[in-house]
Order: sequence, then C-alpha cells, then structure tokens
Amino acid sequence: MYYVIMDLEWNNSYNKKLKSFFNEIIEIGAVMVDDDLDVVDTFSVLIRSQLSNKLSGRVKSLTHISNEDMYGGVTFAKAVSDFSKWVGDKDCIFMSWGNSDLRVMLDNLKFFNDIDGIPFIQRYVDLQKYCQQYLKMSNAQQIGLSAAATLFGIDVSEFSTHRALDDSLLSLRCFKKSFDTDALAEHILICDDAFYQRLLFKAKYITNIHDERIDRSQMVCYCDDCRKRMRKVSEWKMVNKAFRALFYCKNCDNYSMFTIRFREYFDHVDAKSKKTKVVNDENKGEKKEN
Ligand SMILES: [Zn+2]
Repeated sequence: MYYVIMDLEWNNSYNKKLKSFFNEIIEIGAVMVDDDLDVVDTFSVLIRSQLSNKLSGRVKSLTHISNEDMYGGVTFAKAVSDFSKWVGDKDCIFMSWGNSDLRVMLDNLKFFNDIDGIPFIQRYVDLQKYCQQYLKMSNAQQIGLSAAATLFGIDVSEFSTHRALDDSLLSLRCFKKSFDTDALAEHILICDDAFYQRLLFKAKYITNIHDERIDRSQMVCYCDDCRKRMRKVSEWKMVNKAFRALFYCKNCDNYSMFTIRFREYFDHVDAKSKKTKVVNDENKGEKKEN
C-alpha cells in the first residue's frame, strides 16, 4: 500500500464564462511513500493558465512562481494525465492538507475536462484534520501547514513553503511525526458519491425563523445572576444572519440581548449564541443623576 500526499497551487481570477471568481490550478506537487513512509517518488508540474495572462500579485509573492515560469508550464489536461499515470493503478491512500485542494481539483476537472469526481483518488484522508486530532486541537480552528509543522518541532526553514512539492514534503514530515495506523484508519474516507456530496456541500446560515431545522430549545436565555430562565420581551429580529431578541429577568431586574446563529452543514446544524447584558433604563437614569 502507498500514501500519496498531494498539494496544489492555484491562481484566483475572474472568469467571464462562469461569471465568478475561479481558482485555476497552476501547480501540482505530490510525494508517494510506501507502508514504512519511505519516499518512493515525487511529482511536480507547472501548469500554463488558460484563463488569465498574469498571476495575481498575491500568488506571485506567496509562491514565487513568476509569469514566465507559468507560461513554461503544460496544459491542465496534460498535467492531470501525467499525474494519473504517475499514480498508476497502485493501491493508494490520497492525502492533502485540508480538503480545499480536493474541491479546487474537482472544479478544475469539471471546468477543463468535463469530468465529475477525481478519477485517480479512491481513498482519502484529510491530513490537516488527522494532525489536528493528533495535536488534540478542535476542528473549529484550522491550523496552517507551517504552524502545525512548527508544533511538531519541524524546522520549516528548509522548506520552500507555498510551492506544491515542498508543501507535500512538509506535510509528509507532519504525517511521519503523527503516524498511527489505528488513528489513521478512522480518517480514511471512500471517495464515493456521498463523499463528493459532502465535500461540495456549502455550509450556510439559516435565516428563516420558521425553518424546521432550527432547534427552538436553544433559543432561550438564562440570567447571569440567578441562572433562571429569562423572559423574552421583544420579537426575534434578524441581525447579520443571526436571530436576536431582548430577554428580561424579573428576579434580578436585568435585561440581556441574546443572539443566536444557526449554520447548516452536510449532516448537522451548528448553533452559536451569545448574550450581552443591557443596562436598563432605570440604571441609565441613576447614572444621569450621579
Ligand atoms: Zn436573574
């Protein structure tokens, strides 16, 4: 069995045909290792942009890929074909740092090759997620590759970060530091239709208060002082994709502004709430007198 760690660099530009911004892949880098994590081979290719004549300033400064380098690249179709051949029919587990590389690869394969799915990937592990679990970090935050490498005690100065091959090699170093086949087994995803549906699902805020996916039991506010449930004294108002209402505790005679935002993911709805104490009119009156 082999592991392939892939990394992509892309150029973001406005696409007239799509009438939106598009991330066009300009470099593919990958490293293949065996069961013992010994390097079998590496892959690196630059891709000539078909959508823009120039790389964005951000990409140039981040990757140090010049326009001239990019002009010397091959077409996306040729790069993907060479990459597929390089992977061959080996039994591989694919990895990338975060799944955005996969989403960009999917978009590019659809746009340039009119292909759904990624034909050369059968099994996938999100290495970022895997390493975050190893580092006992929550999935709410997403750690960058360099930051993770530093936490693993890796000297990142010897890597040219934000170049596809070097980033895949740096990812490999993180993988070596955290390698545990049992932990890894839980992260292996089969790349079937459900995998792609989940990957392409765009999380969105629920802004209709009557939406049945909203858990009304979470739309309650408790008093900071007496811990009792407060009474809602205003209508729910939509503010910045969140629902907001004023609550009152008659025990303590205080008001709180309670805000809750529901975000729908592929298989669950996430709720985030906060409350802010509101100085009531009486208090304001006292302050004025003082
Ligand atoms: Zn109270």
